[in-house]
Amino acid sequence: MEEFLKHFKTHSRADQRWLCEVFEDQRWLCEVFECVKEQLYPLLDASLGVCVERLSLAVVSKVQRAVGSDLPVSYRCVSVSELKRAQRTACFSSLSWSSAHYRESARGAELLLPEHKPLPREHLLLIGSLCDGRASGSSDGVWRVRDAGGSVSCTMLTSSCLWLGRLMLFPTWNYIPQNAPEAGYLELIDAPVCVTLEAMAFDPGGSLSEVIGVRRAAELLRQRCEDQGCVCVSGQVSAVCPLLLIAGKRFFCLILSDGGSSVPVFITEAKHQYWRQCACVGQSVWMSSLRVCSLQGLEGRRVLSDSCQSRLHPHESSEQTDTHTDAHTDAHTDAHTDAHTDAHTDKHTDTHTDTDTHTDAHTPLPSSSAPSVRVKRSTLISFKGTVTKILNAEAGLYEIDRQVGLCLAYQPAQKWGGGLRPGAEIQLHNVHFTYHASPFAPRVVLCACLRSSVQISAFSRLRSEVEAPGSHGPLQRLLLERNLGVSQYLWLCYCHSAVSERLCPRWVRAERVCVVAARLLDFVCEAGQKTQKKRNIYREMIQEPHKCPVTTYCVCWPSVALWSVREVCEWMWREVWVSLSLLSLLPPSVSHMTSPELNASLSWSTHSVPLTHTHSGPLLLLGVLELDSTRATLQLRDQTHALDCVCVQTGQSGAIDTAWLGCLVCVRRCTLVMERFMKTNFPSWKHLDQPSYITHKHCRVYLQLRVDDLTIISPSASMSRRLSERREESAPRPRRPLTPAVVPERPLTPAVVPERPLTPAVVPERPLTPAVVPERPLTPAAAPVRPLTPAAAPERPLTPAAAPERPLTPAAAPERPLTPAACVSLLLRLESKQGVRLQNGSGAGHTHTHTLQLGFVCRAACLGDAQRWENDPRNCRTQERERDGGLRKIELHFMGSCVRWFPVLHPGCVYRLVALNTADVSVLKTTGVSARGGVTQLISPALLLQPQWRMHTLTDTLTDEQCHQSGVPALMSVSEVLHSSSAPEIVSFYGVVSQRITLQEDSGTKPKIQSLTATKDPSAVEDLRVRLSVQDSACPGHVIHVYLDLSCGPYTLGLVPGAALQIHHAQRKVSRACNVYCRSLPISRVSVTDLSSVCSGSGVSQAPPPPPPMMLLGEWASARTQRGVVGQVKGHVVRVLSLRLQWTCSLCGSIFRQTSCGRTHPPCDSTSSVFQAEAKVAVEDGSGEAHVWFSSETVCDLLMLNAGQWEGLQRHVRVKGHVKVYTRGYSMTCDEDPDESLVQYLNCLCSSAAVCRQIHLTCRIRAQRTGKPLLRKVHRGQTEFICKFTPALQLQCQHIHTR
Ligand SMILES: [Zn+2]
Ligand SMILES: [Zn+2]
Repeated sequence: MEEFLKHFKTHSRADQRWLCEVFEDQRWLCEVFECVKEQLYPLLDASLGVCVERLSLAVVSKVQRAVGSDLPVSYRCVSVSELKRAQRTACFSSLSWSSAHYRESARGAELLLPEHKPLPREHLLLIGSLCDGRASGSSDGVWRVRDAGGSVSCTMLTSSCLWLGRLMLFPTWNYIPQNAPEAGYLELIDAPVCVTLEAMAFDPGGSLSEVIGVRRAAELLRQRCEDQGCVCVSGQVSAVCPLLLIAGKRFFCLILSDGGSSVPVFITEAKHQYWRQCACVGQSVWMSSLRVCSLQGLEGRRVLSDSCQSRLHPHESSEQTDTHTDAHTDAHTDAHTDAHTDAHTDKHTDTHTDTDTHTDAHTPLPSSSAPSVRVKRSTLISFKGTVTKILNAEAGLYEIDRQVGLCLAYQPAQKWGGGLRPGAEIQLHNVHFTYHASPFAPRVVLCACLRSSVQISAFSRLRSEVEAPGSHGPLQRLLLERNLGVSQYLWLCYCHSAVSERLCPRWVRAERVCVVAARLLDFVCEAGQKTQKKRNIYREMIQEPHKCPVTTYCVCWPSVALWSVREVCEWMWREVWVSLSLLSLLPPSVSHMTSPELNASLSWSTHSVPLTHTHSGPLLLLGVLELDSTRATLQLRDQTHALDCVCVQTGQSGAIDTAWLGCLVCVRRCTLVMERFMKTNFPSWKHLDQPSYITHKHCRVYLQLRVDDLTIISPSASMSRRLSERREESAPRPRRPLTPAVVPERPLTPAVVPERPLTPAVVPERPLTPAVVPERPLTPAAAPVRPLTPAAAPERPLTPAAAPERPLTPAAAPERPLTPAACVSLLLRLESKQGVRLQNGSGAGHTHTHTLQLGFVCRAACLGDAQRWENDPRNCRTQERERDGGLRKIELHFMGSCVRWFPVLHPGCVYRLVALNTADVSVLKTTGVSARGGVTQLISPALLLQPQWRMHTLTDTLTDEQCHQSGVPALMSVSEVLHSSSAPEIVSFYGVVSQRITLQEDSGTKPKIQSLTATKDPSAVEDLRVRLSVQDSACPGHVIHVYLDLSCGPYTLGLVPGAALQIHHAQRKVSRACNVYCRSLPISRVSVTDLSSVCSGSGVSQAPPPPPPMMLLGEWASARTQRGVVGQVKGHVVRVLSLRLQWTCSLCGSIFRQTSCGRTHPPCDSTSSVFQAEAKVAVEDGSGEAHVWFSSETVCDLLMLNAGQWEGLQRHVRVKGHVKVYTRGYSMTCDEDPDESLVQYLNCLCSSAAVCRQIHLTCRIRAQRTGKPLLRKVHRGQTEFICKFTPALQLQCQHIHTR
């Protein structure tokens, strides 16, 4: 040490430094000496005879030359092991950069990407030996910096083979630590400076005189000459393919070209793998001792391959013996910065050429499989740019220059993401330019394949996370497994992130996300459209013209968007009010409606849109089906939201049942239903354009879907059990079932990574041992990757505990034991189900606090006694013992959170009721419900369901006689309810809703349950008493009014015009006018069975309803309602019996004269009025006569007045406010002033031939008191008769067909 320090004594004294500085220098020199002794000296070959002092001197002199003349005392020597252990944050260190240079560079980088911070500067001195990993036992082509304590991986912008094994000073570098401890890598920014002085062992490995050009080498490969020695080839590198690892062997391919010819060179020797970092596209090199080999993987094509003695040299290598001098370092830095600026200036021209090539590439290729999918050819380009964002490191997706995508998935994954951190400048060679490959990726995506090279041209100065794993992520594995095209791969990545965002981890485990995404890809792509040709890596790397999976791509396909549940809800919340047109909600007679009539018509309306109309492209909804216990509805859920569903059954598939709960489904077809509730106070229709009269509005949105339209992406445990049982039934031998949507899970073993299937096929031609050459598949996806056809392997559920299994009330549910717990079950067949409504219930825990809670009651037949099980039988096949014991009727009471079972319980179905975690069969013992006061009711024994009990729908056929007879009574039709004389008082029937009218609440009546009526908006008040007009599904003319009170239970969804309904347990009533109607009872239940006819007017072609039947008045009068309620009549207007014309106050309904309301007690200050008219006309058609009533909007047509005449008439009436004329004798008269000109005019008009004419009408029967026939005196000459007259048929005109 003293000897070493001696060298600096004079130096320090001569400088006349302050004493402390001398000490500082001394201290620093000691530190360097110690470091050299500890870390570097052991690396040196003892045969060189270099002592520690000499080595230290050399180090200090190199450091001094790098930094300037002064000793950089602020720099601290750092060993590799210390760097890896202690440096937890990314940093930058440079000996040669001035502070100003560093700040400027950092600011420049920060300006470009303000979301990232520049790397902080550390003052560290790093010296070590450059090696290629063989020292640490791996030849992975990665360079390393090593000292006595360990080694760290590094990357360089350029490197020379001559640096290997040398002791180097690293003037400028970034250190990027990684998440794992002691993992990190170096980015060597400036070229390293050689420290040692020993002579270069320059071995060209072959005589230079034998160097041949690329053209000659290509000829050599074409000749089938047996005896060929090693050759030395010189040429320009035109492609550097990525490093591949196949069957544990690493190799890569270079393509040398010169003029028009090119030769591929395979570098297979482990000790040459580090060349991959030395060779750059565009560089001129020569390579020595290359052998000619035939490539098994490519029909024996002959290529060049390296041998043990091979050397790689840049062309200017003759001058490169002293590259590591300082002069060169400077030159290199200059060159580097030059290249840097070039890259920036070149960028624009590059982009322009890109667009040109892209227009050329627009010629579509013929696509046989799907004419709708456009297939385009991509162009090979080179590109320079800056990485601006890591889109998805795992999927190999990056963003360059803020607008261009880069996909590296077709290349093997690189360690540390290949240094592709935001801010890094890169050069891409031979990448595929694709335009609009996917709507879910940047417009331009550059795709790197095995022919492409991705080189960093400047390391990022910014701090960023390095996430990319060194091996293939599941997405890339899937890409290889299925040979996906780039469009499909980009869609898969989009789908993958959608699934992980919305469903992971609650419903889909992280490691299963890829499986789910792959199934969705299967679902959206037809099999023929997505399979590409198998990849052949050798063809991809070397064959001309180049062909690879990215050569062609589909334009924007698949374009299916995946909406989250929240997105669809938000769309509906917007659409429901955007679509609102007040005028369209009102009948044609709007101008004659008073304010209360008008506002009542606006209080409720519905709007429904098919899912396919919501988005410009195809759309899928993805979610898990679960039950909601507060609303007793089925919901589609993901982590963003939950949406109510009305699941209807049509076709073969049954109703939704318990096995569907917890299934991950996707929905391509469904109807989005939006119900609007509005409180308005429009004075008249003229004010409809003023939204300020809408005082309150809210909406309910939900989906209407059919079981047939649900596609299972991942089944629940129960569903997979059912599917596998069905498979067994349909195929006794293990055959593959045809359930394309449910692709069974197959573990993604690393076998599909190209490491395994790719066998190194570069077999030297000599010695010729064809028998030894293994006949193994050479394409990445050929052998071990079996096509993913559905196999008989049983499904594993996505969630270990399917949704309904989760206790809803954690307090009530016992802790789930780890071992399978015993449980007891009961087999039931449901016979009837009542509606959900608020009930006085003692809490589920039999406490005596009586609270109002939701509940419903089912009647069921017990098919056997309670059974004990070792573990939960769920929905497995029934066993014989379960049907032991007599058939007996019980009542099931569902209270509180148990009401969630409501949507999946259907009369006629068989269920297994399971009580978990108990072996006591008596828990399922039914008792007579003891009412308060100890009175036992005379009803069937009842069972109160516990929240943690489960229901399971069983679908296996029960053989027992008793099981076949379902106790479900048949439903009546609307006509039967209307006309059957023997109809019971409580009826259950089915029909189609033709109209829904909100009945006005009595003022002051509040909805009974605020919390249930308005879950979204606590201030929302709904009118929940409605009148449904339900028509017979077979004869639409038969209509019954059903009065429902929706306020005492959860809101019933789907009661919209067009919905097919089943109404259970309604009370049948007959009005005083002998009309039959129905009223809901507390036990009533309304269920929607079909909404197929519910479609909005938004572009959906919908067949108009069939016209009502033609009626003869005579027949209609005799049979009345039995012949239907609505009909067409062709007849003759005999005379106008009465005509009433009136101006009505819009607010209070009183007569309105001139400009003021006629009401005086209390006075009305209304200023708006509406004109109303009513006429009663006798019409006969030869078979009989009827009295037809015409209301305001039809009177004008009846009287054959044009608009001007009609207006004039209204003006005349305005003077007195009203006029009523009626027939007396042969003319019409008026009570008040019969001689008034208006009356005279009306008299003339009504008796004119224009009015008394042939007429074609659509009428409905008007409510009337039938009853006893009228007795009337009739005179015939002198004789007086008393005749019985049946009262005339009273009809209300709905439409006049002829004017
Ligand atoms: Zn390619
Ligand atoms: Zn009034």
